[in-house]
Amino acid sequence: MKNWDVIVIGGGIIGLSLSLELRKQGTSVLVVERGEPGREASSAAGGMLVDCSTETPPALQPLATASARMYPEFVHELQVESGLHVDLRDQGTIVFPPAEHVYERPGFKLETLLPAPLAKLEPALADPNRPAFYLKERSVDPRGLTAAALQAARKRGVDVSSGETVTSVRVSDGRVQGVVTKKTSFLAPKVVNCAGAWSGQISPCAFPTRPVKGQMLCLASPSRNLLKHVIRSPEIYIIPRSDGRIMVGTTLEEAGYDKRTDVDTIQRLLRSAIAMVPELRNAKILEDWAGLRPGTPDALPILGETATPGYYVATGHFRDGILLAPITAHLMAQVVEGFSTDHDLADFSPARFQQ
Ligand SMILES: Cc1cc2nc3c(=O)[nH]c(=O)nc-3n(C[C@H](O)[C@H](O)[C@H](O)COP(=O)(O)OP(=O)(O)OC[C@H]3O[C@@H](n4cnc5c(N)ncnc54)[C@H](O)[C@@H]3O)c2cc1C
Repeated sequence: MKNWDVIVIGGGIIGLSLSLELRKQGTSVLVVERGEPGREASSAAGGMLVDCSTETPPALQPLATASARMYPEFVHELQVESGLHVDLRDQGTIVFPPAEHVYERPGFKLETLLPAPLAKLEPALADPNRPAFYLKERSVDPRGLTAAALQAARKRGVDVSSGETVTSVRVSDGRVQGVVTKKTSFLAPKVVNCAGAWSGQISPCAFPTRPVKGQMLCLASPSRNLLKHVIRSPEIYIIPRSDGRIMVGTTLEEAGYDKRTDVDTIQRLLRSAIAMVPELRNAKILEDWAGLRPGTPDALPILGETATPGYYVATGHFRDGILLAPITAHLMAQVVEGFSTDHDLADFSPARFQQ
């Protein structure tokens, strides 16, 4: 029976990026995926690379900053290796902050933090006088990104087994032997759980991950250059893609593993988008969907080795898994290969949830 150096459970952006990174170092890797790789949260995401936000937990800030810096190189490598184009945009984000955050004092106006008047930056916005500021953030098309990561992984010699649900990590004499699936088993001395919102369902570790549902819709822009920037406000975000599609999101719902969208929510998102950009009333809805973010009790990822030697975890990336994929792959490859890590991972240790 074939034996791999490492088995990665879950073919989302975290599992695929990590398997690529491990493979670069000559490690043989098998990705075991329940469905088709990249079809869960990683395809449902908006793709904003938010590296500086009041919503980013302070402990996560260094990883968010490092990962955002890695992005151009990360995408470049994926494009070269996969032969696929990934839509990475760097036009930046216009942020409309919550009313309570908008303050003015002599000599300070949020408008002065814009590189040009709002009406010039985004003529399609309904209210050119709303207080706003500009962030030099990038955005990426997550579906293109995961497709390129999968293709690159295959080309680099990562084995991928789709349609295999891992039920447990096999442990014998206190050491990992591989994984057991509903149909068969696979052998490896090291296993990394990258199963996203489902990570807690695989024994022997009960990681406290939970699904946090987000609904989104995709519009066909009535004109290709309607919007340049990502627009973020407390009620909604709007993410333009280079091919003229516009993503609108989202919700944060505690709804278990239910991935259905509901008409009222989608209509509410659409109304908010039209209130912000009136021309979108002429846009056609191409698609709507919901995805499940991997949430954790303290809103921090879980990264590191578990109490079972040889069993690792990289999950719980919640709202930032697309952003954090390059740094997670880099650091977790260091952990799995037994090297010291470039960043201190103590705040993300699985031990914080183990009694
Ligand atoms: C609506 C929405 C908007 C978002 N927007 C952004 C954004 O703008 N920017 C950002 O950075 N992040 C965003 N995110 C978050 C981001 O999508 C996630 O953090 C990220 O995709 C998590 O990646 P993952 O690989 O851990 O999980 P997933 O992509 O869910 O992958 C986990 C994989 O594991 C597989 N799996 C599960 N159980 C098993 C099992 N037992 N055996 C085998 N395989 C299994 C699943 O089938 C799945 O393919 C958003 C998420 C949502 C839902």
